[in-house]
Amino acid sequence: MEINGSREWNFRVEEEEQGNAASAVTVRGVLNLLFQNIRKDDNNKPVDVVIPLGHGDPSNFPSFRTAAAAEDAVVHALRSAKFNSYSSTNGLPSTRRAIAEYLSDDLPNKLTPDDVFVTLGCIQAIEMVITALARPGANVLFPRPGFPYYEARAAFCKLEVRHYNLIPEQGWEVDLEHVEALSDENTVGMVMINPGNPCGSVYTAQHLEKIAEMAKKLRFVVVADEVYAHICFGSTPFVPMGVYASVAPVLTLGSISKRLCVPGWRLGWIVTNDPHGILKKSGLTRKMINCLDVSADPVTFIQGAIPDMLQNTTKEYYSKIVAIVKETAETCYSKIKDNPVIDCPHKPEGSMFVMVKLNVSLLDDINDDLEFCIKLVQEESVIVMPGVALGMKNWLRITFAIEPSLLEDGLQRIEAFCQRHAKKQ
Ligand SMILES: *Cc1c(COP(=O)(O)O)cnc(C)c1O
Repeated sequence: MEINGSREWNFRVEEEEQGNAASAVTVRGVLNLLFQNIRKDDNNKPVDVVIPLGHGDPSNFPSFRTAAAAEDAVVHALRSAKFNSYSSTNGLPSTRRAIAEYLSDDLPNKLTPDDVFVTLGCIQAIEMVITALARPGANVLFPRPGFPYYEARAAFCKLEVRHYNLIPEQGWEVDLEHVEALSDENTVGMVMINPGNPCGSVYTAQHLEKIAEMAKKLRFVVVADEVYAHICFGSTPFVPMGVYASVAPVLTLGSISKRLCVPGWRLGWIVTNDPHGILKKSGLTRKMINCLDVSADPVTFIQGAIPDMLQNTTKEYYSKIVAIVKETAETCYSKIKDNPVIDCPHKPEGSMFVMVKLNVSLLDDINDDLEFCIKLVQEESVIVMPGVALGMKNWLRITFAIEPSLLEDGLQRIEAFCQRHAKKQ
């Protein structure tokens, strides 16, 4: 196209591509929209305390301060002056070894340092795995509801996405029949999140084994996002998917962000659970290493702190965090049960979230979940995530990982909001 007789700039982004970028729903994008709607006074200050039930980052609340051992490990690594250089590509050898040992506690096939690839948080682990899986014609299976960064990253890599359902009435288990119906010879992988974001689900060993059997039958890799590993407070204990790696190969993704409440430290990992060497032989491991070769590495002194951090953080610290989320999850669940407008099909047993169904027919002037969330922040300064951002229209995701007193306040405001907008009988 010519403008004023001169040629267009070569880097102009085509409209179609602009449209794609704009339509990618991200948690950050939705949160930004909600935060823009906070009621402000004339000095541009919020009129009320804002209660963030929209995303899972409790690290700023006093109850969720990280372990003293974790802080000490970072200070010590920094002051040692041994960690000021560039990292090696897949992570420092001592860091990889420490993560392999930490995760091997729960596994029958012990991991070696070579199975561990250190990443900039679990986010970069997702980026690397999706990039490595993408090839022309391939498709990948994601859960609905899920974690929208996966969709955004797949769109970026032009990897086709197919969504399998989770079954609310069965503790949000994977609908395995649906998985089978969706997959074909171009299905390269299936992502599962356990403990579950956004559902608060924790899968039993039996269910994990069935997933592994299905992956074996359908010949794809299981990508197990276990960023909430061990944050379990119901009757089902956490079992890593890697336990079933002898059935089908598993890529486990994780980080220190959630269990240690330090998402800003940006340290995560990809682990190959591959006792039969299938991932290696397929070339996927090599491709992942190639992707990592051209990516930024996590900060070296945080990597340097990992061995001490994982070794010295006490059981008491981990139990304390789980005890707090157990209590806040209870509060959340019982308050939701009292509110006819929202319904929780499954009591949360893990992670930091619960999915609730919004009964819009009981509301007077609210037509869907997004409108509910925008009006809620405008009127009550409470942020919750609309289900539409996670693939589930007219549901809401609520996090209970915040300071307990603040959570109660937030749930009361939701209740008041629902009453105010209820249809008059
Ligand atoms: C928070 C989260 C991540 C990202 O973890 P970081 O370590 O903060 O990058 C990945 N997956 C799920 C399901 C999450 O909730």
